[in-house]
Amino acid sequence: MPPDPRQTPAMQQYFRAKAAYPGCVLLFRMGDFYEMFDQDAVTVSKALGLTLTQRTEGLPMAGVPHHQLEAYLARLVNQGFRVAVAEQMQDPKEVKGLIERRVTRVITAGTRVDDALLPDDSPCTLACVCFIDAGEESHAGVACIELSTGEFIITDCPAATLIDELTRRGVSELVYCQAANDAPPPRIARVLRALNISGTPRPSWQFRVDEARRTLLATYGVTTLAGFGLSDDDPALPAAGAAIEYLKQTQALSDDSPAPTSSSSLSAGTASKSRRPSLAHLRPPRRESPDEFCTIDAVSLRSLEIERTLRGVQRPDPSGPRLTDPSLLALLLSTPNAFVTPMGKRLVREWLCRPLAREAPIRARQNCVKALVADRRMSDELRGILSEVQDVARIAGRVALARATPRDLVALGKSLDRIPGLIDLTGAAPAFSFQADTLRAVGESLTLLARTIRASCVDSPPAHLREGGLIKPSVDAALDEARGLQTDADAWLIAYQERFAAQHDLPGIKIGFTRVFGYYIELSSSQARGLASRGIPAPLIRKQTLKNAERFTTTELAELEAKITSAEARALERERELFDQLCVQAGTQTGAIAQFARTSAELDVLAGLAERAHHRGWVCPEITPSPVLTIHAGRHPVLEEILGNNFVPNDIELGQGSSSADSSRALLALITGPNMAGKSTFIRQTALIILLAQIGSFVPADRATIGLCDRIFTRIGADDALHAGQSTFMVEMTETANILNHATPRSLVILDEIGRGTSTLDGLSLAWAVTEFLSGSDVAPGPRTLFATHYHELTELEDQLAGRVKNLHVQVREWPGESGHGEIIFLHRIVPGRSDQSYGIHVAKLAGIPRGVIERAREVLGSLNVEHHMVRADAGAAVGGAPRASSSRPNVAAITKPTGPSQMSLFTEYLNHPAIDQLRELKLDALTPMRAFDELRRLQQLLDAPAH
Ligand code: ADP
Repeated sequence: MPPDPRQTPAMQQYFRAKAAYPGCVLLFRMGDFYEMFDQDAVTVSKALGLTLTQRTEGLPMAGVPHHQLEAYLARLVNQGFRVAVAEQMQDPKEVKGLIERRVTRVITAGTRVDDALLPDDSPCTLACVCFIDAGEESHAGVACIELSTGEFIITDCPAATLIDELTRRGVSELVYCQAANDAPPPRIARVLRALNISGTPRPSWQFRVDEARRTLLATYGVTTLAGFGLSDDDPALPAAGAAIEYLKQTQALSDDSPAPTSSSSLSAGTASKSRRPSLAHLRPPRRESPDEFCTIDAVSLRSLEIERTLRGVQRPDPSGPRLTDPSLLALLLSTPNAFVTPMGKRLVREWLCRPLAREAPIRARQNCVKALVADRRMSDELRGILSEVQDVARIAGRVALARATPRDLVALGKSLDRIPGLIDLTGAAPAFSFQADTLRAVGESLTLLARTIRASCVDSPPAHLREGGLIKPSVDAALDEARGLQTDADAWLIAYQERFAAQHDLPGIKIGFTRVFGYYIELSSSQARGLASRGIPAPLIRKQTLKNAERFTTTELAELEAKITSAEARALERERELFDQLCVQAGTQTGAIAQFARTSAELDVLAGLAERAHHRGWVCPEITPSPVLTIHAGRHPVLEEILGNNFVPNDIELGQGSSSADSSRALLALITGPNMAGKSTFIRQTALIILLAQIGSFVPADRATIGLCDRIFTRIGADDALHAGQSTFMVEMTETANILNHATPRSLVILDEIGRGTSTLDGLSLAWAVTEFLSGSDVAPGPRTLFATHYHELTELEDQLAGRVKNLHVQVREWPGESGHGEIIFLHRIVPGRSDQSYGIHVAKLAGIPRGVIERAREVLGSLNVEHHMVRADAGAAVGGAPRASSSRPNVAAITKPTGPSQMSLFTEYLNHPAIDQLRELKLDALTPMRAFDELRRLQQLLDAPAH
């Protein structure tokens, strides 16, 4: 019987490692390849298009070349795989039999640290969550760690808003407490679906409070957590502890773990056993209070197209700064010569997703932007210096985790060298005193580190330490000596080559080198034949036969080769030691580097915002705590970029008037107007201007006074992708319910139509009631609300709720056109008052609906011209206490049916009711009061019966 292919020693070793990392694809280093076996091989070969082979009969295998590991890891992680990498812990040349192999790192979506695996401008955040279920309310404790930079935030929120919280933070992976069965609990499954990220279950004991406390104390080497502002009953404590435990496992940091391979690995395929990775760069957990920030939920982030467009693609126009379809983030990042550091690019995203809610920090940022808009020279110089600062936040992370490359180290040195220049620049501008102080506090130690790196390392270092050549000459005697041997060897080789050629009368022969065969003397086939005819001289030992040449070595050459190889190995080994020493030195400064990184990122964002403000004529908004809003000549930042001067600026004023009759005192504006007129643009631009103001930016307007918002809510277009399984109307109502339940007098509410997914009457009634609710009362004012609607009936609320609701409409110009029907042009100008028509048929015509259909629609509209009135009557009845003047009540008897062959059931349902016919025929004069009463009762009963 053939031996079982799974029982060989190497395969047993493989399956042991595989079992220790459940849920991971295992990449198992064997020689020059990372191999996968069994089901992993089948799945991954399909996912990545690799060739599927068999190690032996019945054992599928697929592999990737070792030098392409990072590229394959990136592809695997992007496709949602978790990957464990097992390295060879011994040099295969030195071992007989089975080589020791161990998993040295686990790469998951939320724990990426290597440059090749991380996008520059977006965060890679791991979140860990635990739930506290007390009574009806369920609360979530959340820990968010960005392993690549060491940022560590804890917070807590109602479980119902967990999706919003994690979306704002750009989470890539969610760690949660394992349930009894393996499947994620439903509330976790919902989060994973909504964010489209992978989840990782961890054992429940890691979420125990005492266990979490122990982990945190040990990680930071402290005896109490009080210094971090953390108490034992902090709802996020279990999540914080479990998150650290998880990182320790993925980074192979548990006590019995080997040091990982790093790019500093020397001999190919063998893990470096030198410096151990650590979480030294992980900052202590910082508790974030929710009221520091203006909350934007996940739906609003999406519908306002802050991070990405609704279509999900960002297509910067290659021809220049003009963008065709960008998000607000993409727009800002496209500012020429701005946002020059990767850290700044990530920070501006963070600011946009989490604007500030307090006045003082907003003013501090505004002052910086103001200073840079006013001082162009300073702005240019600042961006010039920052453009030479690399991603030091992530480099510091890689240094701590023993994954830094020579290029990382040199980039770190060069970046830190910019500190004195930054101190000079910021120190001279009072607005930047905070940044200048931070830089001064870390400047001395970091410039010293920069000097050491500069003194030791070459300017253009190799990508990998194994290539050699990082450390400058004359830095280290032992290294110089090893390198000297190599140089001497070069001279010896040339001399030997000449001597050998002369001795054997072989002019022009060359000594060559390949990685696999080492040094050789190459003879062309004719030289080799000539030599053979004379009898091959004794010292030549055949090494390799090629098509047109023969390769030989000699004892002397082989001895030299051994010497050179050992000198090379010694030089590389020494370089690694020196590199490690520099990394250790840098590792002691990770806290200071993080502060420098954060300050550089801030300066970069402030300079970027100033650049946009300067080039687009944005203004500094006035910030006030009162719930008001005044924007003069406001523009949509993205559309302005696309349309240039064709964009029509608009004004809005809410909560500003002084007398109770003053309509600008109203906090709720109803915006009516035809489709395509610009209603959505107007309400979105208002939200974006407020958001920009609250990140400290200037805004696209001529003048703006922004009362600080605690939350921005939007209800714009249903999003089926986010709410799979719910009907459009259900989504709409869920979003509306969220707004009505949570909006405060300090919130901003943006509504783009409500009630469209149901019958007109239901929809109008709901929209009416929602408007009344949001308009608040004199004692309890509602949020600032912009409501774009097609329900013209709602505009009556301006009279009924005087001083609380005001009407705006989008101006349209109409003039007689072909076949007597008016043509319209959209002026995109928002003006006070209500719109008198909806122009739906005009817009349909513009959209290319066939002429015949348009004509018929006009006919039907003509005959149905009371339809709206009928609806208004019903809406009035529905709202009970809010009837309008009787003159606006429609006369039911005046309703006529559309003419023509097609009947519309919506209308006939009401028009054909027998009760109406019988009522019409009733001869009232011929009835006694008693009979009339009986008739009335009968008709009422008839009304309750289904219509025919
Ligand atoms: P509505 O919500 O009324 O249907 P939109 O706000 O979607 O209309 O606007 C439709 C189109 O009109 C936009 O895509 C844009 O091209 C144009 N538009 C909107 N507002 C303006 C404006 N203020 N200036 C110029 N064009 C505008």
